[in-house]
Amino acid sequence: MSAPQLVDLAIIGSGSGNSLPDDRFAQTSIAIFEESIYGGTCLNVGCIPTKMFVYAADVAETIAAAGTYNLDAAPAAVRWPELVSRVFDRIDPISVGGKRYREQDCDNITVYSSHVVFDGRDAESDRYRLVTANGETVLATEVVIAAGARPQIPDVIAESGVRYYTNDDVMRLPELPGTMAILGSGYIASEFAHVFAGLGTQVSIIARGPSLLRKLDTELSTRFTEVVRAQWDVRLNTDIAAAQTLPGGGVRLTCRDGSHLDVDVLLVATGRTPNGDRLALETIGVDLTDDGRVPTDEHGRTAARGVWALGDVSSPYQLKHVANQEQRVVQANLLKGWDSDDLDRFAHQYVPAAVFTRPQVATVGLTQEQAVAAGYDVTVKVQAYGDVAYGWAMEDSDGFCKVIADRRTGLLLGVHIMGAQASSIIQPAIQAMSFGLGALDMARGQYWIHPALPEVLENALLGLELD
Ligand SMILES: Cc1cc2nc3c(=O)[nH]c(=O)nc-3n(C[C@H](O)[C@H](O)[C@H](O)COP(=O)(O)OP(=O)(O)OC[C@H]3O[C@@H](n4cnc5c(N)ncnc54)[C@H](O)[C@@H]3O)c2cc1C
Repeated sequence: MSAPQLVDLAIIGSGSGNSLPDDRFAQTSIAIFEESIYGGTCLNVGCIPTKMFVYAADVAETIAAAGTYNLDAAPAAVRWPELVSRVFDRIDPISVGGKRYREQDCDNITVYSSHVVFDGRDAESDRYRLVTANGETVLATEVVIAAGARPQIPDVIAESGVRYYTNDDVMRLPELPGTMAILGSGYIASEFAHVFAGLGTQVSIIARGPSLLRKLDTELSTRFTEVVRAQWDVRLNTDIAAAQTLPGGGVRLTCRDGSHLDVDVLLVATGRTPNGDRLALETIGVDLTDDGRVPTDEHGRTAARGVWALGDVSSPYQLKHVANQEQRVVQANLLKGWDSDDLDRFAHQYVPAAVFTRPQVATVGLTQEQAVAAGYDVTVKVQAYGDVAYGWAMEDSDGFCKVIADRRTGLLLGVHIMGAQASSIIQPAIQAMSFGLGALDMARGQYWIHPALPEVLENALLGLELD
C-alpha cells in the first residue's frame, strides 16, 4: 500500500467543486475525488444536456403548431440517434478535456477517480483522513464537500427488478421509445415529459399529489397541470403498487388505484437525495439535517473545523446557479481563512428557478400562500399573455404573469410566470428584488420595448394596488 498523500485541500466532487481551484490556488496542493463522470451533474446528466433536448422538442412542437399560424407543415421526423450524438458529441469531450486538464496541466492537483469516504482525523499529521475505494489514503488540512445528489428510487421500483431509467441514462436511450411512464411530479419529471412527448413518445406521468410542480405557487401549479394534461397522460393522486417486466421487454406498472399501465420505458424522477449519507461523516462528527443535507453556516462551514460544503449536498436549493454562487463563496472563504471576520455569505434570499417545459415556468420569491402566511399586506396582479400584443401574435391563451407585492412598501415579494420565454421574462423582476427596486419604479423608471413579450410583466406591475 502506497504512503498517504498529504494535501492542503481535498475536494469531493468534480461538479461545482472542479471550479474551485483557480490561479489563486496555484501554490495549494489539492486532491480532487470523483467517482463518476468528470464534471458533475449539470454538464453530464443535468441542466445542459436536458436543455439541448428541450430545445429540439420545442422546435418539433413549434412545427406541429404551424397550422395555428395558417402554415402547412409536415410533422418533424425525429432522427433520435443523431440527436443523441449531437448532444453528447459536444458534452463528452468537455468532460474528458476537463479531467485531462486537471491531471496533466495542473502540477498541484491529483485526481482520484474513485468514491471516497472520511475516516476521522489522523492524529500525527493533524489532518482529515480520506480513503478511496481501493484503499488509497489522502491526508488533507481542509476539505470541501461538493458531492451533489443522486436520483431517489422508490423501494417498490428498486425491489421489483424491472429495468428503469433516470436522468443518468435516459438521454442515451438507443431509440426513441413509443411509450414512456415517468414517476414524479417535479421539474425534472416535467422537463423529461416535455422532451419525450415533444419528440413523439406517448408519455404518462404518475404523481402522488393532486398536481404537478406542487412546491410552486398553487395557482401556477394548478394551471400548469391543466395545460399539460392536453399533452401528456397525467395521473394524479396515485402511486405505484407493483412493477413487473413484460415478456417482450417493457414494464407493467400497477397503480394503487388498481389501474395498469404497460410502457416501453420507465423513467424515475421522484427527487434527488443529497450524497452526504455516503461519506462516513460520523467519523468527523458531522450529523446530517432531517432532510439529509450536510449542514453549514452561511459561509459554507460545517461543524467540523476546516471542512466546508456547497451545492446539492448541503444547500436547501438543488440548482446550479445556487451551487455556483456557493462555490464562489467557499472559494473566497478558503482564501480568507476559516476564522476570518470578513467571510463571504451564501445568497439564499431571492433564488429563482425555471422549468423548461411547454409552457415554460419561472418563479422567484414568495408564493401567494407564503406571502400571506408571513403577514404581509399583499397585493396581487395576474396578467395574461393574451393581454399584450406579442401574446396576440402567438395566439397565446394559457400564459400569465403573477406578481405579488407588499402594498405598504411597494416592493415585490414574488413573481410567478407560466408561458413562452418565462425564464427570460422574469429576469428584470429578479434584478428588482435583488436590488430593492420598488414595483412602480421598475414599471415606470425604464422603457419596456414595444411590443415585446416582457410587456406582460410591465402591465402586471402597473396593475398592483399600492399605497
Ligand atoms: C435532469 C436534471 C436537470 C437539471 N436542470 C437544471 C437546470 O435547468 N437549472 C439548474 O439550475 N439546475 C438544474 N439541475 C440541478 C443541477 O444540475 C445541480 O443543482 C448541480 O449540478 C449541483 O452541482 P454540485 O456541484 O452540487 O453537484 P454535482 O454536479 O452533482 O457534483 C457532485 C459530484 O460528486 C461526485 N461524488 C459524490 N459523492 C462522491 C464521493 N463520495 N466520492 C467521490 N465523488 C463523489 C458525484 O459523482 C458528482 O460528480 C438539474 C439536475 C438534473 C438531475
